[in-house]
Parts: sequence; structure tokens; C-alpha cells
Amino acid sequence: MSGWEMVVGVEVHVQLKTRTKMFCACANRFGAPPNSLVCPICSGMPGSLPSVNMRAVELGIAAGLALGCAIAEKTSFDRKNYFYPDMPKGYQITQYDRPLASRGRFRFPLEGGFMEAGITRAHLEEDSGKNVHDAAARGSFVDLNRAGVPLVEIVTDPDFRTPGQVSAYLAALKQLLQYIGVSDCNMEQGSLRCEPNVSIRRAGEKALGTKTEIKNVNSFKSVEKALRCEFERQRRILESGGRVIQETLLWNDAESATEPMRGKEEARDYRYFPEPDLPPLEIPGEWVERTLASMPERPEARRARLIRSFGLKEYDAALLTASREFADFFESCAALFGNVRRLSSLFMVDLLAVLDEEKTSLAGSRLNPAAVAGLLSLEEEGEINKNQVKEILAELVRAGGDPAEIARRRGMAQVRDQGEIGSVVARIVAENPESVADYREFRENMAVGLLIGRIIRAMGGGANPQAARALLEKELKSRT
Ligand code: ZN
Ligand code: MN
Repeated sequence: MSGWEMVVGVEVHVQLKTRTKMFCACANRFGAPPNSLVCPICSGMPGSLPSVNMRAVELGIAAGLALGCAIAEKTSFDRKNYFYPDMPKGYQITQYDRPLASRGRFRFPLEGGFMEAGITRAHLEEDSGKNVHDAAARGSFVDLNRAGVPLVEIVTDPDFRTPGQVSAYLAALKQLLQYIGVSDCNMEQGSLRCEPNVSIRRAGEKALGTKTEIKNVNSFKSVEKALRCEFERQRRILESGGRVIQETLLWNDAESATEPMRGKEEARDYRYFPEPDLPPLEIPGEWVERTLASMPERPEARRARLIRSFGLKEYDAALLTASREFADFFESCAALFGNVRRLSSLFMVDLLAVLDEEKTSLAGSRLNPAAVAGLLSLEEEGEINKNQVKEILAELVRAGGDPAEIARRRGMAQVRDQGEIGSVVARIVAENPESVADYREFRENMAVGLLIGRIIRAMGGGANPQAARALLEKELKSRT
């Protein structure tokens, strides 16, 4: 990159999957009517008292452990003071000098290999409310449903040098947190938000340059775009003899540009002080051990196990375990249908294509494991062919149902009725005496091949080939 190198650290805020908020009993739920999930505590009424949601602490511990962090024996909460209309309290309860988890390392797949990033810290805090700017220009409103939603903030060391490394990290982090049930990481709903900080320096230089922080990047694609754009902006400044100002920038996806949001505050501007309403939290070692022992299988372990127990290829296993949902579904199907090779090809070729065509996900589809097993059994028994499998699969995804019934309704299921096939066999054999002669004179393959073709054609392609062949051979033998 023209003699310059970018140095990036990433801050990620993840909403924890708890039933209630961080410091009160209000529901933690997205999409409710504005200000319907609010109480005196999360709306910051004077005199209200917060209490810690222990489930959130547990999920924070799980996240910390999964990222290879040390979990603090004693952790505490602090107030971070600043004014913003979506935060009527005038401060955020967060963790300052005693975070729940720190000094981790996280290894993730990158371009066929792996990369490792240092995790500076992972701490708990509460989310703020949300300003809603009304398009009909009736004004701006504040919705406090999100105020007090539990967050874990995960901060990396400045270990990234390319936009691709950052998006690979984010994808792996998202996958990990979804797998261990810490968060649903839904970026559209804002339950995973990332803020990269960027500085640049001459290649080979050791000292770090002045960094800027980019907010409002809502997809992995925009992260890469925003980083490239910010790299260029800083390079132009430095090459023309200027200097980069430490500030927070807002990413404008439509314009593909960053715009200044505010000068970046120093920690001292926030006047952090210990939250007087919450005593420090002791975390017994056995709690940490219990969390580790009960942690769901992580993506890498899952991948390795699928390779081991089903003999899958590395690439296939990676695809099948891309999400926990997909991997769970695959394993439920494998429990019902033994030919795992066929099952995995159905998943990787047909199912992914059908979900894409129908613009849905597994969760949004009507498919269930019994239907998948039933579908592949129909194919195995020769009732339907590969193309018909895909056709039925699409209907199962869209509308659900019983694969055998769908095959019948669509006129796919081949005729297996012995009597029906038998009468056609008898007729075709009677109409083709020369083939019967061939058969008698030991040109069996030729005779059988020709007759089977005629039988299947006579039945409009609807005969089951195995059943027809068995009946034909019986018929021919009876004539020798
Ligand atoms: Zn509340
Ligand atoms: Mn934060």
C-alpha cells in the first residue's frame, strides 16, 4: 500500500441474550412499541437502585473464556459520565479499571490458514436508548427500550493490518458468540456493532500514529470499505504535510465516506468513578469452571468432530458448521438418514441453493429433519430422481409437508403397483417376439435393455425401474 501500513484495533459491542436488562427486570427484547419496556431504573429516575443481572455476568464470563481471556476474581462497575439525549441518567454504567475479562487471544480462519489477534479486554456495560428521527418531520424522539440492555464490549489489540483481516475476525467472532449462545449477533437489529480504530504509519515504523475511530459501520462489507476509505484519507493528510486529528468519524454507507462526528474524548473527559450503587463482584473460581464445563461446543471443535465422526472433508465440514443452526439441523438429519455423504451433498448443493432462491434461512423455512430423511429415502428407493429431490425440497422449504405426498401430488412418484406394471410388461413382451427370441438365444442384455425402455415409455416414465426389471425378467424366464 504505497509505503504506508494501516494499524487497526476493533471494538465490538454485543447485546447479550438475556431475558431481562442489565440492571432491572425489564424485558430485553427487540421491536416492541417505543418506550414499552422501561422502568424507573433503566430510564434513570433519581433514587432508583440498579442490581446486577447474574445471567449477563455468566454470558460475559462465557464470552471471555471463549476468547482465551483471564476472568477477574474481583470485578467492578463504574460510571462513565457524558450527556446524550438517549441517556437520561447522564452516565453509563460500565467497567473501567477492573473489567470482567482481559488478556485473551483469539485464533480465526484467514485465507486458508489462521490468524491470531490479542484481546485487550471484554467488559460488561449497559446499552443506551435510541434517538428516532421521524421522517415525516414531526420531530425527534427518544426510545428507551434499548436503555439498559446488557452488552459485552470486546476490544482487540491493534493487531490488524488489512481490511480483510478485520472482516475475517468479525465473521469468526460473530460465529463464536452465536455458537456459545452469548448473543444472536443480528447486525441489522444492532445486536452486534463494531467500531474499528485506525491509524497509519510508514512501513517498518514501530511507533503508532494518531488514530481515529469509525462508528456506524453496519455490515462486514462496510467495515472493509470504511477502512480503505479512512486509510486513503489519512494518507492524503500525512503526504500533504498535515496531521491526523484524534476524532470519532461516522461512516456514511450511501456516500462511501467518513464524516467527522466529534473530537475523540480522552478517558479523563468521562470522569469515571466507581458506581456507588453496586458493590464489587467476586467471581469464584468454581463459577468460572462451571461455565467452562457447560459451554456449548465451539465452531472449531464442531468442525473437527464432524470430520471425525462422519468422514467429511475439511471444506464440507466448514460449510456445514458455518452456523450452529445449520450444524444442528445437519446432525438431526444424520441421526435419521444414514447415508451422510448423500446428506451432506444435499445440504451443500441443493439446500443452500434453495434457501438462496427462496430468500430465507433454515429458521425461516418449514423444513424439518424427518422430511429431509423421508425425501432422501424416496430417492434411495428409486421413487424419485435427483432433480425431483430438489423440486420437492423447494416445496418443503416454502410450505412444509410430507415428501411422499408431494411426490404423488406432483405426479412424480413412480408406479410400484406390481399388478399395473405386470400387465404392461406382459403386453410389451407379447408385442416384441423378436426380443423374446434374442433372450432365448442368450442376447439377454440387449433384449432386456430394449424391453425396459419400451415398458417405461409405455408408462409415461412413471414406472419404477427396479420393479419393472424384476417383473420383466420373470416374464421372460417363463417363456424360455
Ligand atoms: Zn427497566
Ligand atoms: Mn462501550
